[in-house]
Amino acid sequence: MSVPPSPSKDFIRDIIDEDLASGKHDSTVTRFPPEPNGYLHIGHAKSICLNFGIAEEYGGRCHLRFDDTNPVKEDVEYVDSIKEDINWLGFDWGDHIYFASDYFEKLHEWAVYLIKEGKAYVDDQNADEIRKGRGNLQEPGTNSPFRDRSVEENLALFERMKNGEFGNGEKVLRARIDMAHPNLNMRDPVLYRILHEEHHRTGDKWCIYPMYDFTHGQSDALEFITHSLCTLEFENHRPLYEWFIENLPVPSTPRQIEFSRLNLNYTVMSKRKLLQLVEENHVSGWDDPRMPTISGIRRRGYPAKAIRNFCNTIGITKFQSVNDIALLENAVREVLNKEAPRYMAVLNPIKVVITNYPEGETEILESVINPEDPSLGNREIPFGREIYIERDDFMEDPPKKFFRLSPGVEVRLRSAYWIKCEEVVKDDTGEIIELHCTYDPATKSGQNPPDGRKVKATIHWVSATECAEAEVRLYDRLFMEEAPDKGEGSFLDHLNPDSLETLPNAKLETNLSGVEAGDTVQFERLGYFCADKDSTSEALLFNRTVGLRDSWAKAQKKG
Ligand code: ATP
Ligand code: MG
Repeated sequence: MSVPPSPSKDFIRDIIDEDLASGKHDSTVTRFPPEPNGYLHIGHAKSICLNFGIAEEYGGRCHLRFDDTNPVKEDVEYVDSIKEDINWLGFDWGDHIYFASDYFEKLHEWAVYLIKEGKAYVDDQNADEIRKGRGNLQEPGTNSPFRDRSVEENLALFERMKNGEFGNGEKVLRARIDMAHPNLNMRDPVLYRILHEEHHRTGDKWCIYPMYDFTHGQSDALEFITHSLCTLEFENHRPLYEWFIENLPVPSTPRQIEFSRLNLNYTVMSKRKLLQLVEENHVSGWDDPRMPTISGIRRRGYPAKAIRNFCNTIGITKFQSVNDIALLENAVREVLNKEAPRYMAVLNPIKVVITNYPEGETEILESVINPEDPSLGNREIPFGREIYIERDDFMEDPPKKFFRLSPGVEVRLRSAYWIKCEEVVKDDTGEIIELHCTYDPATKSGQNPPDGRKVKATIHWVSATECAEAEVRLYDRLFMEEAPDKGEGSFLDHLNPDSLETLPNAKLETNLSGVEAGDTVQFERLGYFCADKDSTSEALLFNRTVGLRDSWAKAQKKG
């Protein structure tokens, strides 16, 4: 077992070290706060690894808190998938699972508190008027004509809002801060809006819902979060969160620290765009193996450990950057190289008849299960007169640098014999249907023959009489552009039309028939493949996780 690279110190861990050393805190409490309005993606994994990772390293704890303030977009399906994904990544919140909706009562009480303090008011303006009144970076905002309502009037109106006397959007509750504040978030932000909507947890109890900004920091305070870690886009919300903390009787004062989001090239990560890909059937679902969702990545066969290693490698900074997806793929290869057992599979088969091999005979050859882990020993592979090889490994009329099988040329069959192509058999249309070869019994297990002959290539193969059948799906990048959501037009314009290639006719080494859904293996010379969740022993289905490393690809080109 390899040890994942441990996360190195970063500016957030430095701050925590200081807070523990100075006695400001005697333990750390972090949280991961997803909104249950979509499936988690690889970007969330960065935040999960950071928050749960810190809890592990410091012997603290990390809460899972669903920020469920928007009943319109939220769903229990998402709650369940988020829990599953975090567990799969290897983290555990123990008893500390919370919902912002658990605090609706408290938040309402605090809204009333602000009204009584003269720090919040009911505004009758509609969303458009409020937006216009807010001004912009150059110009201050203008006060709402309802800003100076009396405390009594505000209390009465807010109560009526709560009792459902007004329609959606007819009134809002706003903080009374400063309409000329240089930070637009401080210009009397909306605290509560009217939404006559069922909530996935509170049902129809409420028809007013707190805004995310009025919920987030106070939820942290209620849970005694010490370090509230979030992405950079919340940096200019921090003054507002601090204003709430200062102006409300909260039980603790969390410290918010921002870090940069994970971005990957050739990928979109916004939940809105991922939802669009699903709803418009550009992919088969949230867990389509081409999706950057945790469930998609899992289905594709990426090991959780590789994702943790990747997150540790890229580290935590305030610097906005785009990571190369090749880095993630490399992290996947590194783990799978050590852990994935090796098998042979032929994806585009062509039959080879070994004419000097006795008819009806089968022998058992051995091959190592994983050269990285000799303790696993060998596997047994049946060999006989008829085998399949990869169509690409044969060329009738090869260019100079092609060293694999061609007429008159000898190659090594991996873990088996050397064979030489003697005859190309074609059908009426000229299509090659079969190759006739001879083998040399002196080359058993691939060894060199006594006469000093050499071969320049080793190819993989599968017995034609003893093999399993499978459908294999090859995935390529979902987008052809490095930054699909930048520039003109829609990100959908950049979808790769060839991101999925289905090979219905693959032949597998018999040992693969026992592989269970979710297992990832190496098909020798081809890459890593994961048995799909829909794979059964009757109908095997594999997804290509990732190809083998580049140097291997180069070596293959030569060979
Ligand atoms: P979207 O904006 O696409 O709807 P979100 O980022 O708002 O998604 P949340 O469910 O609110 O999604 O995210 C939960 C947590 O994950 C937040 O703390 C957020 O900062 C963090 N997070 C989301 N995306 C990334 C990312 N790409 N890199 C790092 N952290 C992220
Ligand atoms: Mg969010």
